[in-house]
Amino acid sequence: MDETPANNFLQTIIAEDIASGRVTTVVTRFPPEPNGYLHIGHAKSISVNFGLAQANGGRCNLRFDDTNPEKETPAFIEAIEADVRWLGYEWDGDVRFASSYFQQLYDWAVCLVEQGDAYVCDLNPDEAREYRGTLTAPGRNSPYRDRSVEENLDLLGRMKAGEFAEGARVLRAKIDMSSPNMNMRDPILYRIRKVAHHQTGNDWVIYPTYDFAHGQEDAIEGVTHSICTLEFEDHRPLYDWFLDHLPVPARPRQYEFGRLNPSYTITSKRKLKQLVDEAVVAGWDDPRMPTISGMRRRGYTPAAIRRFCDMIGTTRSDGVVDVAMLEFAIREDLNENAGRGMCVLNPLKIVLTDYPADKVEILSAARHPNREDLGERALPFTREIYIDADDFREEANKKYKRLVLGKRVRLRNAYVIEADEVVKDDKGEIIEVRAHTIPGTLGENPADGIKPKGVIHWVSVPEGKPAEVRLYERLFNHEAPDKGDNDFMAHINPDSLSVVTRAWIEPALANAEPEQKFQFEREGYFVADRFDHSQDKPVFNRTIGLRDSWIDS
Ligand code: ATP
Ligand code: MG
Repeated sequence: MDETPANNFLQTIIAEDIASGRVTTVVTRFPPEPNGYLHIGHAKSISVNFGLAQANGGRCNLRFDDTNPEKETPAFIEAIEADVRWLGYEWDGDVRFASSYFQQLYDWAVCLVEQGDAYVCDLNPDEAREYRGTLTAPGRNSPYRDRSVEENLDLLGRMKAGEFAEGARVLRAKIDMSSPNMNMRDPILYRIRKVAHHQTGNDWVIYPTYDFAHGQEDAIEGVTHSICTLEFEDHRPLYDWFLDHLPVPARPRQYEFGRLNPSYTITSKRKLKQLVDEAVVAGWDDPRMPTISGMRRRGYTPAAIRRFCDMIGTTRSDGVVDVAMLEFAIREDLNENAGRGMCVLNPLKIVLTDYPADKVEILSAARHPNREDLGERALPFTREIYIDADDFREEANKKYKRLVLGKRVRLRNAYVIEADEVVKDDKGEIIEVRAHTIPGTLGENPADGIKPKGVIHWVSVPEGKPAEVRLYERLFNHEAPDKGDNDFMAHINPDSLSVVTRAWIEPALANAEPEQKFQFEREGYFVADRFDHSQDKPVFNRTIGLRDSWIDS
């Protein structure tokens, strides 16, 4: 892997922990809930957790935090595993599940009850809210708070045995109803939920809360640094409280960093789901989605995503990161690694009147200007070629460095040509340009000294092939589509996708494998669609333009 070792405040903490002997082997974990697909924000968390373990010779676990069975599915589990692997990370040992610790967590709940640190509470949700108090007013003790240990053990056992209805009772920690930290006001440890679980089936009808589960799971796995995002900062006292009150086998610590929020992007699972459900996009892996699978389909590479995660650093602030940095990372990778090819998006036919009708001249061109290792490609040249309609004008000023009637232009990797005549249809639209080649101009300037001003791309009409090209833009036209009062649905970019149904590609591009990436010369970076592309019916997605047009324009 190409990353430099993490250099951020978390690495500083880890280095100190190793130096002081608190920690010998660094163990981290990435703990997704299998209730959705991973997105760019998760990629950051993955890069932080796996990256810190790697940089310190430690281990990183992949642990599914599956404590809410209603919204979780095995399909999400599979997709998440595939995404983490695709990003280039390998977790330690087998995948882990919070649900494999359900018995241990329950035993520890019993332990808290026996110690007088937890009780069964019968307040209904409305009452519980009222007792809880507010940010400015302390809460009040539940009338059930002083139940005896025996009664609590009995009720908890019966909750587990399924004797009570959902919502009838909960198990709560007995901490402090007047704490200024709301999380410490006798938080819930267990809820009754009579639903089957994708891993444990019908074994359980009570499920632990995130707060009660997370730190203990970390302790079971010997996690040394439990890294999460800033919204959990206020949960840290509770995280520590459980570990202080239970006979756990290890003592993990929680550290928080700022969430990644790229501009022009949303990363809330709920809102991403809305985009899918309301068919704003074609699915979770639509190339406009900030999901890992969407970015993959868009043509992003794991290396570019990892590079972006490194570039933006890891801090304790929740600021917005310019999405142009992500675009920079992919452009840089593809500029270096993607083969070149020619694709005409808006074909205009050029007939080279001096060139024999049945001749096919096989020219050759480098696949990459400075990557000899990528080799050459065969480029057939014929009497009829397509150029982009934007690359021809009947008249133009000097700034227009493309083909103009009576003037010359170089065809990329081929001859210099000169335009002689236009052919128009009844409506006056140009349907064809008649031109001629300037002899001896393959890799040479014209002998008469009249040099062309520009270079344009082209594709042979008979030797090229039609292709569908999907031109993607950013999905939102607002920098912070869901910030504050913004309704993200009102900021959808109406031009986020335009489909060119009949672009013309050189033969080498038609041979692309799905997910193979290219620079279409003068157009941008494109990828053969992972699912829809075949050599018989080529389909390409635009990953990103050549330059940052949002800055240039
Ligand atoms: P939700 O809380 O809406 O279910 P989530 O995005 O927190 O969603 P999880 O599956 O719980 O989803 O996330 C797994 C890990 O990824 C957590 O540690 C979480 O902090 C981290 N994570 C999620 N979103 C981001 C983000 N935008 N930036 C950095 N880390 C993130
Ligand atoms: Mg979460």
